[in-house]
Amino acid sequence: MQDGKNIIGYDRTRRGSVTFRTINPILNTENDTIFYEATPEEVEQAVTLAHQATHFFGETTHEERAEFLRAIADEIMALGDELITMYCSETGLPEGRAKGERGRTVNQLKLYAGLLDDGSYVEASIDTAKPDRKPMPKEDLRKMMFPLGPVAVFGASNFPLAYSSAGGDTASALAAGCPVIVKGHPMHAGTGNMVSSAIVSAAKKSAMPEGVFSHLNSKGYAVGEALVKHPLIKAVGFTGSHGGGRALFNMAAERKEPIPVFAEMGSVNPVVLLPEILKEKKEKWAKTLAGSVTLGSGQFCTNPGIMMGIKGSELDQFTEILANEILEITPSSMLHPDIAEKYDEGKKMMKAQDGTQVVAEWGEQTQSNTGRQTILKVKASQFRENPKLHQEVFGPFSLLVECVNIEDLERSVALIEGQLTASIIGTADELKGYDFLIGQLRDRVGRLIFNGVPTGVEVCASMQHGGPYPSTTDSRFTAVGEDAIKRWLRPVCFQNCPDALLPVALQNANPLNLLRRVDGSLTHSKI
Ligand code: NAP
Repeated sequence: MQDGKNIIGYDRTRRGSVTFRTINPILNTENDTIFYEATPEEVEQAVTLAHQATHFFGETTHEERAEFLRAIADEIMALGDELITMYCSETGLPEGRAKGERGRTVNQLKLYAGLLDDGSYVEASIDTAKPDRKPMPKEDLRKMMFPLGPVAVFGASNFPLAYSSAGGDTASALAAGCPVIVKGHPMHAGTGNMVSSAIVSAAKKSAMPEGVFSHLNSKGYAVGEALVKHPLIKAVGFTGSHGGGRALFNMAAERKEPIPVFAEMGSVNPVVLLPEILKEKKEKWAKTLAGSVTLGSGQFCTNPGIMMGIKGSELDQFTEILANEILEITPSSMLHPDIAEKYDEGKKMMKAQDGTQVVAEWGEQTQSNTGRQTILKVKASQFRENPKLHQEVFGPFSLLVECVNIEDLERSVALIEGQLTASIIGTADELKGYDFLIGQLRDRVGRLIFNGVPTGVEVCASMQHGGPYPSTTDSRFTAVGEDAIKRWLRPVCFQNCPDALLPVALQNANPLNLLRRVDGSLTHSKI
């Protein structure tokens, strides 16, 4: 039985009187555990401990932090089926998804441990002194990355494991050497609590300083706001709505010392269907897109929320097959009643816009909180005139935009805001003729997909999960994959520093055997 407490360093506390419970969205009933929202004093304590841990934790070796991350992975696995049961009871997602997401979470932790083993993420760069250079001697300059300090992470409702307590933001920040305070998502507080206990247990076993990790409960904005505004917090990781991400970004910018907020917000992930492919493979793409729109009840930031094609008999046939395929799929529960309610409101708003027509909508009676899949269509001219049609409806929803010709399609793409992804689907031959369109899409996204759907985000070095605003607040960074660590680091340059006083990564002997840029060339060599 859970105690519903906040986890502050190595302590578990419940000093406040504001309480809440999570909801089982399938049964539409409250779960048993009562969670205690963190008080301002508890927030202060967590931040103070994180601040106190900053120096010691930042000074830990790559090996020690890698061991810590691997220990977290082991502790999460040791939670066994109890974690899976908790996850399912708080999300309505099936056991297979829970286990898959746990696997992804554990693998992410191991990925960052591997990055630490390699060590080159510190980007050591050395320009040796040239005292004889004319007309001016050149100084010895050595640069590498250092941790920013305590990071506040907001648990994401749609990834209770992979983007919450021990998710990608936390794993990459801990790998960077930054203490983390998680503001748990209220809808999966029990899952967050169990995973956070595992992190603390791993921290103790790996002899990490108290305060390297804390987990605060909250159902409301107060705790998150207090963290973002706290002068000792140095960066923020967020996944959620545009309203939430933008509010936190503004708050951070208004601080006396502004800090970065890496917010991953909405995306409609446009999918462009070229004419020739629809002649050849309309059945295949209708089925694939129906699966992608409904995957996880549409609760992915990479859900294909807009499809675009050229009007004609091929697109009409594609639309008919898509309608049939999507209605073959049994709808499933959404994550929580609020998301289900917002989804219904979003669909209603879209259906009320001028020119939209229903292509397919699950009409049969369903249990509460079920996401009933819906496809609408609209003419491109009406799409262009109405920005509401460009918005994300979070759930199993997509809007098919019918363009009269390729110019009409290009004019419509030109109005699409920044996205995490875009897909272009065409035959090998026809793709060659769409350079301009491909360039237009590339300029609006972080990931451009050829002949594939946007759902499914591989965790690896080449992944870019972050696009131009409003999909994220900083398109130069990714929230997924090895480079996610860069969000929590800043460069420091040492000028004419005695070798013994340099960080080991920059010393002449290269004791860590890092790949470094020395006088312009990448090398493992000593100096
Ligand atoms: P959310 O409403 O953005 O909330 C995410 C977290 O941020 C929550 O912990 C919330 O706190 C906090 N928060 C939100 N606004 C805040 C503010 N103004 N000040 C301080 N804290 C704030 O997202 P959600 O609850 O996960 O889901 C709601 C909607 O977000 C969905 O319907 C969907 O549209 C969108 N969403 C999008 C993505 C995506 O990747 N595109 C992913 C998940 C959700 P409290 O809950 O404690 O109030």
